[in-house]
Order: sequence, then C-alpha cells, then structure tokens
Amino acid sequence: MHIELTDHLRCPQPHDEAFLVLLPHRMDGRRVVSGHLGCPVCGWSAEWHDAVPTFGEAVVPDDAAPFDAEAALALLGLEGPGGWVAVAGRAGALAGDLATLLPEVRIVAVNPPRGVEPSDWVSLVRSPAWPIKRHAMRGVVLGEGSGTSATAGLASVLPGLRVAGEGPPPPLGPGDELVAAVEGLWVIRKG
Ligand SMILES: [Zn+2]
Repeated sequence: MHIELTDHLRCPQPHDEAFLVLLPHRMDGRRVVSGHLGCPVCGWSAEWHDAVPTFGEAVVPDDAAPFDAEAALALLGLEGPGGWVAVAGRAGALAGDLATLLPEVRIVAVNPPRGVEPSDWVSLVRSPAWPIKRHAMRGVVLGEGSGTSATAGLASVLPGLRVAGEGPPPPLGPGDELVAAVEGLWVIRKG
C-alpha cells in the first residue's frame, strides 16, 4: 500500500472510528511492502509482507464488475488530480484503468478479485469489515462481493461527492441524495 493510505484507514473492530499507527518494515519508494498497522484504542494489529495489508479473513470475488472504468467515472462525476478513490468487491477490477483515467489520483481496491496488482497508484487492502475512515475518499464504487457494509462505504466519501454501487442502495443518511438508480446500479451524493 502507498504510505499515505495510512491516514485514511480505520481500525476494523466495531468501536468508534480510530486511526491506525503504521510501522513500515520495508519500503519500495512510497509503497509499504512489509509493515505493521496497529490500533491504539483496542490493540488490534495486522502485519503483511506482500504489499497488501490484510485485516482478517476477507472474501475474494470471482468475477469483474459488469461495467468499465469509464462508466464508473461517469457515475462518480469526477475529474482533476488529487486525493483517493475506493473501489470495492468486483469493482476492484477497475482499479488499474481508473488510475489511468484519473491521473494523480490514488486508488484503493478493497477486496478486489484475484489478478489486481498493487502499483504506485493502486493500493490493495483485504478486510472483513470496511477499512476506510469517514469522509476520506473523493469517490467510492461498491461492487458486488466486497463482503463489507455499503453503509460504511457510503460514509467514506467526502460531503458533496458521490458513491456508486451495485444492488439495492443503502439507507440514506441526513442530506444524502439518491441521484440515480437504474439497472442494478445506484448513485448517491453524500450530504
Ligand atoms: Zn481498534
């Protein structure tokens, strides 16, 4: 994972959102190939040696999303550099193409299908619970098979920006707006 992702990760245990402390063991540029993340609140920790932080037993989707990165980008309505976008479940297969379409934007793939490789612009995380803090991402695409909560994924986008997903839309919070819901896809603008 890219070292700056640390700021956007949360402890996966069900307590109030808490930041994680990173101890990098081995770096490749700004990527943490081997490291340790720990929670100062509950003592939870994870260690990895293959560039992919693994927070516990996580699902691995069998297939890729039935839409492409250009479609995902249109749903999110994103342009311009900076920040992070999360893609989860089978939408994680779009990570590399999204990184190409969105120069200078970092992508985090949560529980992507096999075959998605980390790079300078694509970080992977495997987790049984949604691992990203509230109000941390410029956009989130929740594909089927992420094994995590759509409500938590929705909370991770910055106010005024969009989350797109497959399946039934999660309940709206105060100020959230359902922008579209067609053909098994939905788009919500975060209030
Ligand atoms: Zn914790």
